[in-house]
Amino acid sequence: MRKLIQIVAMLAIILTFLTSTTVGYRVNKQALIDSTLETNLAYAEKLASTTDIYLREMLKILQVNADEVQSLIDQPDSQRQLNRVVERIGTQTSTFNSVAIVSPEGIVQSVSPPSLNLIGEKLTSVGARQAIEEKRSLISQPYVGITGELIVYISVPLFMEDGTYRGFLGGAIYLNKPNILEKILGNHFFENDSYVYVVDKEGSLIYHQQENRLNDDVSANKVVRKVIVGSTGSQRLINTQGVPMLAGYSYVPIADWGIVSQREESTAVAPAKTMVIKMALMSLPLLFLAYFLVSYLSKKIALPLQRLAYYTESSPESDHKVKMEAVSDWYYEVRQLKGALLHSLDYFRNEMNYFIHRSTTDPLTELINRRTMDDFMKQWVEEQKPFALVIFDIDKFKRVNDRYGHSVGDEVLIYLADLMQKVARKGDLCCRYGGEEFVILLPKADKVTAYLVAERLRRRLESTVSPCGEIVTISAGVAAYPLHANHPARLIELADKCLYEAKRTGRNKTIVVSDEPQHE
Ligand code: GH3
Ligand code: MG
Ligand code: MG
Repeated sequence: MRKLIQIVAMLAIILTFLTSTTVGYRVNKQALIDSTLETNLAYAEKLASTTDIYLREMLKILQVNADEVQSLIDQPDSQRQLNRVVERIGTQTSTFNSVAIVSPEGIVQSVSPPSLNLIGEKLTSVGARQAIEEKRSLISQPYVGITGELIVYISVPLFMEDGTYRGFLGGAIYLNKPNILEKILGNHFFENDSYVYVVDKEGSLIYHQQENRLNDDVSANKVVRKVIVGSTGSQRLINTQGVPMLAGYSYVPIADWGIVSQREESTAVAPAKTMVIKMALMSLPLLFLAYFLVSYLSKKIALPLQRLAYYTESSPESDHKVKMEAVSDWYYEVRQLKGALLHSLDYFRNEMNYFIHRSTTDPLTELINRRTMDDFMKQWVEEQKPFALVIFDIDKFKRVNDRYGHSVGDEVLIYLADLMQKVARKGDLCCRYGGEEFVILLPKADKVTAYLVAERLRRRLESTVSPCGEIVTISAGVAAYPLHANHPARLIELADKCLYEAKRTGRNKTIVVSDEPQHE
């Protein structure tokens, strides 16, 4: 039972421990995922709005300068001034890798840096063509230029006062060269395992920390698909490389770009694992404590039951009632069980005593019976303890029965038994040997003592009236062990002979076995 309690309790403890660590791990992991998603979203939103504001600023700068270009363009010898304007834009903003004024035919009027040597050349790039076609402020789709660079072109149209279109003022941002986008997006706050990328409205990468991935089509990515239609949000996803990611994404309206900030899920949730290990290590001493506590308690629970079982098992051999009563009954079941066991123990003891009493005593006189008497004699002979005995028989008892009835006869027998016990010494055993024959066993007594006891009884009887109203007398025989015989049966036989001798020679007398050797 102790083992059983221990196993059950330890199982419960271990299960609780496992559940709490698993739950702890899950909750912690979810919290980390949620907070990573939240941070990435906030970060993507911030970057998107910064980029949006910045691009709008660029358009504004170009617009302001376009006003100046418009006023210069038809003036004679304005080339130098135009060159100064484009150069100023180039140096002031440090945004554009090149700035140019281009005619409606696509011919370069002025360019910065001048080292590009493009004046008079016709631009056929996507950015230039789009600017001429659409004649409005615009941020182009990224495209690959003649020099192999990935370019975004920002341009504003040039209109004269009368509305004639005179080309555009535009700046190119080389996406794979150091530029302002990199400055905004490149330094992000996560140390190592997270990064930001930007896609255009087709889902091509226009900014990525790995330059070789620029212009890659990542439109298959779930998050990219969402961000390029203008959504902002965050979610867990498997990226195009098959790695689980926690991404926040936001839209840049001015350019139709999407910015995604993401972090690998495994690194984001790594602290949860560390926490579980820490938790397990911290709980270890508690687990040991629980083990000792369980051992102690299981012992406390099982011990009373064990003791009760032991005392019940051995109760027939020894009296364990007191010990059983002392067993600690600190909980209900043991109290019940102990009560029941003590009760049944009492019951069986009473039953046993009753049967012992019945089997050892005579029901009428309450004296010990012949069998018990035989047992005592046998034991004394075995132990060679000297003793003497008196056997006597009521004289003419048949007559008492005949005259006064059997029940009066019984009363006489009871009266005689009483008297017998009064006359006997302390330690002598009074016994009903048969119908109206009795024996007194006198341990440590010799024949003389026994004779005197027999005579005392005989005299008391002959001098007192019995319950039948008459005096009854007895005849007795006396024998002593080991003086007269070595065997109880032989001793009885010799004493019985004396008794009959007493009857034969007139009754109401005591005869002691003679010390002459007896013949069997
Ligand atoms: P004596 O011994 O002197 O020779 O004569 P007696 O009349 O006593 O003869 P005996 O011993 O043979 O008779 C015994 C009588 O005791 C017979 C029986 O009716 C009576 N008796 C035996 N046991 C009981 C008993 O338990 N109750 C009563 N009332 N009488 C009993
Ligand atoms: Mg008789
Ligand atoms: Mg008789």
